[in-house]
Amino acid sequence: MTHVDESVANLDICGRFCGTCPTYAANHLKSGEPNRLFCARGKSGKSVDAETKDCNCPKCGVHSRYKLTGDFYCVK
Ligand code: SF4
Ligand code: SF4
Repeated sequence: MTHVDESVANLDICGRFCGTCPTYAANHLKSGEPNRLFCARGKSGKSVDAETKDCNCPKCGVHSRYKLTGDFYCVK
């Protein structure tokens, strides 16, 4: 898997996409660890029973910049 930098810029971009995602809201992922940048840090600790709705990752600038191909990084 491509290495995604845990930079402030990438965290900011992620906040705009994960942060507005219905899956993020439905599973209160903000209160888990990690709470953003799952494509770099791995899935959320709250992902065990996560209800998947939609995923904004394919629309995110980090996704295109690093040529990522996956989605739902918060749960897998
Ligand atoms: S990884 Fe995808 S599904 Fe999970 S919170 Fe981020 S945008 Fe939503
Ligand atoms: S690809 Fe998904 S997890 Fe990674 S920065 Fe974008 S929205 Fe966040």
